[in-house]
Amino acid sequence: MSEIGQKSKSLKLPSTITVRELATIVGASPIEVIKLLMSNGVMASINQTVDFDTAAIVASELGFEASLDVPELEKKDLGEIPLWRQTILKEPQDKLRPRPPVVAILGHVDHGKTSLLDAIRHANVASGEAGGITQHIGAYQTELKGKTITFLDTPGHSAFTAMRARGAQGADIVVLVVAADDGVMPQTKEAAAHAKAAQVPIIVAMNKIDKPNADPNRLKQQLAEIGLVPDEWGGDTIVIGLSAKQRTGIEDLLEAILLVGENMNILANPDGAPMGTVIEAKVEKARGPVSTLLIQNGSLEVGDTVVVGTTYGRLKALFDYRGRKIRKAGPATPVEVMGLNDVPSAGDLFQVVPSERDARIIITERLQAKLKDTASKKAGVTLEQLFDQYKAGDLKELRIVLKADVQGSLEPIVSSLNDLSAGDIKIHILHAETGNIGENDVMLASASKAIILGFNVQADAGARRLAEAEAVSIRVYDIIYRLIEDVEKALKGMLEPEFKEVVTGQAEVKAVFKISKVGNIAGCRITSGEIRRNSKVHLKRKGEVIFQGEISSLKHLQEDVKEVRSGFECGISLKGFSEFAPGDIIEAFLIEKVEAA
Ligand code: GDP
Repeated sequence: MSEIGQKSKSLKLPSTITVRELATIVGASPIEVIKLLMSNGVMASINQTVDFDTAAIVASELGFEASLDVPELEKKDLGEIPLWRQTILKEPQDKLRPRPPVVAILGHVDHGKTSLLDAIRHANVASGEAGGITQHIGAYQTELKGKTITFLDTPGHSAFTAMRARGAQGADIVVLVVAADDGVMPQTKEAAAHAKAAQVPIIVAMNKIDKPNADPNRLKQQLAEIGLVPDEWGGDTIVIGLSAKQRTGIEDLLEAILLVGENMNILANPDGAPMGTVIEAKVEKARGPVSTLLIQNGSLEVGDTVVVGTTYGRLKALFDYRGRKIRKAGPATPVEVMGLNDVPSAGDLFQVVPSERDARIIITERLQAKLKDTASKKAGVTLEQLFDQYKAGDLKELRIVLKADVQGSLEPIVSSLNDLSAGDIKIHILHAETGNIGENDVMLASASKAIILGFNVQADAGARRLAEAEAVSIRVYDIIYRLIEDVEKALKGMLEPEFKEVVTGQAEVKAVFKISKVGNIAGCRITSGEIRRNSKVHLKRKGEVIFQGEISSLKHLQEDVKEVRSGFECGISLKGFSEFAPGDIIEAFLIEKVEAA
């Protein structure tokens, strides 16, 4: 039996979402979502992101109708000034020089972003560029009347979003592409919200005006409705009609960009502190890690030592967007660089430091900070933490993943737990099933902030490791009322400390001896640690615990002994179990109190 989430009909999803988040939102297990994705031909792991369309298909198969969640303007973003902008503000005024504007092209799918980027590239070719730009490094430059514009040329708006998310705000201007025959669509609104949140001016490219069903007036009306009032209607949004396909209106757009750029007074110090943003990065067989960097202040030169995130290196070679080797590049230039020791993340800020030693010091600090961060960010799904969240009102219910040995014990536990669910206290059993606790259970619990309760079952090694990494609480019981009592106590905030088993030694059964009065004795060799006469033990066969109990006798060379250490042989008999077989493992363990987190 398995009760999964509360299903309502409609659901809002962001434009991209991780498998884990999607599973949480639809109240399914990540594995279930992964399977659904696979059946639709998409292979994705739990931490990978899928786009809205894909997520919507999964949601619909689980009975939800998904619509795109257009983010509201995030106020807190507005005050955030990226480090490179702060740096430029601190540069001496007399050193600042105008630099080319950096432009991101955003818009709804199929409205013509790629076509427009191609058309602009082509315009560049027309202005005398031999051979055109065949390279794709994530950004390129074009010229109009001797003035340069830098375009970010990444699929969709992923780079722009990544930059904004990290506060880098790489683009100075956003060109919002809207197809005149289709009008303002969800991703148009989303892109506009992104640009507004980053305080980046928007120019609207009204594309596909060549189409017979293009309706510029309707589009302008729709733009006005989302706060982008066209300048010809007295607003401050420039709207340029064009056809990316027929390559008309491209120059008007470039002119508008230069005009907006000039009004913005876009400056940088070419001789200042070199820094900027990673546009994209990949590993190439022949060249190793190759990254495209957008220089936002200062200049970058072969031989410079660069630190970005937790990667660093001396720049061995620089290439421009045409793939030509260069020695040095200045502000607003995209360059492809070789020499970093690894692949940095798109959107990360890079900086130049005096030496590789400095780079390593910075990276060590960053790694330590990261470790601290992850330690303090551990999901927090121990019963104690859950109770705190519950009390603080952050959590509306106590979520439980329940595993039991047989259906017969599952049912009374479920009904007793549901009985606890009275008044303010809400218990939600996400999943109840027979069988050992596995990794899937831990994933489900982690994703949905639940605890795992087991009755007469074990957690496998993989599940334990994952539970530790994800800070998911697993509690195993052999008496039903103890389980119920603990949950009740947890809800009342009176939980007793948690205990865990610590293995102190293992012995392998080599032979079985029948002794008339005593029963069976296992002739063993201690393979690790030690086994004590008063130890509690598991008896494992083929990796599975088939008995748990106490030792009744421990002998070494016919003598009763208190303990036997690794490397020695011994005879072991257990209270209540005598069906030993050669190859069985007897594992001694202690019960230790787990300090509350
Ligand atoms: P993207 O998803 O925004 O990158 O859109 P694409 O650039 O891939 O264009 C989507 C479709 O619209 C393609 O079939 C293009 O050929 C077509 N398209 C793009 N621009 C125009 C245009 O100006 N006029 C017409 N008629 N079709 C266009």
